[in-house]
Amino acid sequence: MISSAATLGATLTVPSTIWGAKQDVPAQFWESTGKQNRIRCLLCPRGCLLKPGMVGPCKTRKNKKGVMVTLGYSNPCALHVDPIEKKPLYHVTPGAKALSVAIAGCNLHCKNCQNYTISQASPLQTRNYSLSPNALVQKALENNCSTIAYTYSEPIAWYEYMYDAAKLAKKAGLKNLMITCGYINPEPLKKLCTYMDAANIDLKSFSDDIYKKLNAGTLDPVLKAIQIARDCGTWVEVTNLIVPKWTDNIGMIGEMCQWLCHNVGKDVPLHFSRFSPLYKLAHLYPTPTSILIKAKAVAKKAGLNHVYLGNVAKQDTNTYCPHCNKMVIERRGYLILSNHIKNEACGYCQKPIAGIWS
Ligand code: SF4
Repeated sequence: MISSAATLGATLTVPSTIWGAKQDVPAQFWESTGKQNRIRCLLCPRGCLLKPGMVGPCKTRKNKKGVMVTLGYSNPCALHVDPIEKKPLYHVTPGAKALSVAIAGCNLHCKNCQNYTISQASPLQTRNYSLSPNALVQKALENNCSTIAYTYSEPIAWYEYMYDAAKLAKKAGLKNLMITCGYINPEPLKKLCTYMDAANIDLKSFSDDIYKKLNAGTLDPVLKAIQIARDCGTWVEVTNLIVPKWTDNIGMIGEMCQWLCHNVGKDVPLHFSRFSPLYKLAHLYPTPTSILIKAKAVAKKAGLNHVYLGNVAKQDTNTYCPHCNKMVIERRGYLILSNHIKNEACGYCQKPIAGIWS
């Protein structure tokens, strides 16, 4: 049993916790093979073939007598009120409170995972709340959160809970935010984007080989997911965690930035994030600030308008108008000190600034 997963905001009152998951519900996106009750999962590019009784490597999807069920539905292991800036989403309603929720599980297995105690666990192992999608939405409203963030672990692994909650949240006038690895097939992603206002998608590197070795995934589906979400009208920001000796090649970072600029657009915010030694890469050192600064310079040179550094002290995290270069959002840590965006545009030159500002 894993007890460290549950996190509770100081102002948040939630039901008492229970060990393990009590509910499994029918899953979406799978097919029967027609042979010996074997089924294939169609949710993510891994396309797992599961015999009866088997659970996928995401630890959340199970073949129960020839039918796929999702484990942990309504049993989040983490619930917290965060500033939206912490996600990070810098171009979405600055200063908003996000009710942040996670169920254990992930369909990637990154050696550097910062949340491995819940992402690499099964919902059957964690200490969980009992919180239906409807109760989650009510919690957000009670706590004056204008957004719900599906985050911390990998929300694709608990797709059905996220989807059902997002649908109800939208009806209640809340915004939905997904913090994800983007390792999902096009059809479920398009369906989800109907209700998803914004996504921060991790682009872990720009190398298929590194994706295979570091993350147990592949690059192409993530690139496609970024484009599909953008095309569906979901606001997309991208995070690239720079891991020393793995993803710190400046040439590769430059190629990634050029791809983003040409295929997603120069207004997509890119967050370079500092790695902290953890999990299977605990022997490494934190990303040197000099590498993060170089990455930012390379991204700006490639033409990206909004490049931020995360998890690193004393760096400029303000937003500047790409037209007149005036500072339009001033931040200190996760705090918004001033906001000069008016009517979705720069308050100085009145030209539009990409994002969801109201
Ligand atoms: S979501 Fe889980 S079960 Fe489905 S294909 Fe991906 S890893 Fe396999």
